[in-house]
Amino acid sequence: MSQPLTIVMYHYVRPLRDSRYPSLKALDVQDFAGQLDYLQQHYCVVRMEDVIASAKGEASLPENAALLTFDDGYRDHYDHVFPLLVERGLQGSFFPPASAIRERRMLDVNKIHFVLASVDDHAPLVDAVFRFLDTYRERYGLESNETYYQRHCKESRYDGPEVTFIKRLLQKGLPEALRAELVDALFHRFVTDDESAFADELYMSVEELRKLHEGGMYLGSHGDRHEWLNTLPGEAQQREIDASLSFLAELGIQSDDWVMCYPYGGYNDSLLAVLRDRGCALGLTVEVGVADLTKNDSLLLPRLDTNDLPIDGEALPNNGTCSAITTYS
Ligand SMILES: [Zn+2]
Repeated sequence: MSQPLTIVMYHYVRPLRDSRYPSLKALDVQDFAGQLDYLQQHYCVVRMEDVIASAKGEASLPENAALLTFDDGYRDHYDHVFPLLVERGLQGSFFPPASAIRERRMLDVNKIHFVLASVDDHAPLVDAVFRFLDTYRERYGLESNETYYQRHCKESRYDGPEVTFIKRLLQKGLPEALRAELVDALFHRFVTDDESAFADELYMSVEELRKLHEGGMYLGSHGDRHEWLNTLPGEAQQREIDASLSFLAELGIQSDDWVMCYPYGGYNDSLLAVLRDRGCALGLTVEVGVADLTKNDSLLLPRLDTNDLPIDGEALPNNGTCSAITTYS
C-alpha cells in the first residue's frame, strides 16, 4: 500500500508588499496563511516524528498527509511562520545552516537574493558582473563575457534569463575564490556595507531556534556552511554533517533519527554513506514531486515548492499537485 506524503518547501515568508525588498522571491505572509487554509482543508498536516516512524515501518501516515518544511533559518520563520503554526496547532520543520546562525554571517546564496531584489532592472547588474570579469580575466584565465552569458543565460522554472545567468554564474560558474569576491562586491555595492547587521536581521538567533524547538517545532540539519555537499570530498562531507549535528545538539536536539535537508538539493553516494553512518532517518531533496514512503528511498524524498500549491483556502485541488489526494472535504 502506498504512503503518499506531500512535503511543502518554504524559504522566505514575510509581509512582502510593505517591505524594503518587495521583489524578493518570497511568499507574502497573507498568502502563507491562505496556503495553510488550503492545506488544512485538503490535507492532514503531520509531524516530522510521524513521518520518521512511518518510514521505519512503525506507523502509517494518515490519508492526504502533508509536511511543512522551512529552509535556511530565516528570522521570517520565527516572526511570521511560528505564530501562525502555533495558532493552528501545526508543526513545521526548520533547517538552519549552522555557521550562518552561529557567526552572524551572510551566506553567499542570500547575498545573491538581496542583490537581485535590490534593483528593478537587472541590466546594470549584468553589466557590473561583466566589468568585474574584465578586471579579473587575465589573472584567472577567464573566458569571454559572451561565453559565460551564453552558457548560463537560460530561462529557469521561476527566473528570467538575466537573473538565471547571474545566479548560475555566482553559484557554480566561476572559480570559487572569485565567486565569493564577486558576490561580496555586488552585495556591498547594491545592498549594504554592514553585512553583520544585515545577517543579524536575516537569520534567527540561537535563542530563537531554542524557542521554536520548545514550542514543538522540529529542527533538522541543513549542513554547516550551506555547501553543495555533492561537490565536497568525503572528509569535508563528514565535517559538514558533524558540525551541523553538534550545532543541533547544542540546541538540545537528540542525535538519533535526525533529518537532513540538502542545501541546494546536492547529495551523492559518499554523502549518503555518511548520513547512514550517523543515523540519519530522512533526507529532503529539491526534486519536485509528492513523496511516497513505500517507494522513495527515505534519504531522498522529493518536495513541492510553495509555488506549486494554491494560496487561497477556497481553491480546488489541482491535478498536478493533488494527484495523491484521495478524499475531499
Ligand atoms: Zn538552503
